[in-house]
Amino acid sequence: MIAKFNSFSEMLEKLPTDGSCRLFLEQLRWNGEPVCPHCGIKTKDHYKLKSNGIFKGLYKCRDCRERFTVTVKTMFEGSHIGLRKWFIAIYIFSAHKKGISSLQLSRDLGITQKSAWFMLGRLRSSFKEKTEVKFEGITQADECFIGGKNKNRHANKKVKESQGRSVKDKTPVFGLLCDGKVNTTIVIDTKASTLKPIIKELVLEGSIIVTDEWGAYNGLSSDFQHEVLKHNDNEFVRDGFHTNSVEGFWSLLKRGIFGIYHSASPKHLNKYCDEFSYRYNTRNIGDGNRFNLSLVNADERISYKQLIAKDI
Ligand SMILES: [Zn+2]
Repeated sequence: MIAKFNSFSEMLEKLPTDGSCRLFLEQLRWNGEPVCPHCGIKTKDHYKLKSNGIFKGLYKCRDCRERFTVTVKTMFEGSHIGLRKWFIAIYIFSAHKKGISSLQLSRDLGITQKSAWFMLGRLRSSFKEKTEVKFEGITQADECFIGGKNKNRHANKKVKESQGRSVKDKTPVFGLLCDGKVNTTIVIDTKASTLKPIIKELVLEGSIIVTDEWGAYNGLSSDFQHEVLKHNDNEFVRDGFHTNSVEGFWSLLKRGIFGIYHSASPKHLNKYCDEFSYRYNTRNIGDGNRFNLSLVNADERISYKQLIAKDI
């Protein structure tokens, strides 16, 4: 039985040291049978190496004889920051709806902003939700534009056509949302030739796609049941179909990026999108479960599906 914390303070109380955090991580990832990260052998009989008579989590593989700890090949590997600080960062980062800035995290943990920035980067790249299944059922599709705002620019840097869909200074993001789960893709434009292949890749043929009247979606009805809402005519719901959920996600993403992170360069935007999608898609499992899920996700090789099957 793997422990689940009901609150941040309970986690702090039950995991007071780096050592207890390591044991917790071992239990969560291995459940009593350590897996050698070098050759993949899983057994409770790997050698436990002691230093000065004390076992501190260093194993020697029974098969390939390589040494390993539970943090090898995870986001914690090679970090000089103690495991407990990582755990605190993970809890805060995954529980707080809008995330946390590196400046705030550096203050909270008593580390440099550079270290905090590095931790957040690692966290962000492991916060991808891993799902291989296609969306099936009622799927909302919509685009949003993230980027600089003209009112914040110097006159000589203002970009023409900064509003609407023909924007030049913003990065378009395409979103699909089905059954409360969102998937985002950074796109070069919002033309049919860009959006349609993504829809076909991620949504099962025959599903219902709900969009607004943007021309790029014309012709979807050959592969899907296409419900078009005429937003220009103030039609936002028809027969229960709407795009409110995906639009709600956009506002969360925009508030998060501008509120906490102030800006996100196009280069890093996909990571922020992944971060917000991950938090959004796990919003109903509770902070304690999300914390455990995030710890296990520190190992890239475990998929979301496998995790759900584990019922942690
Ligand atoms: Zn091995």
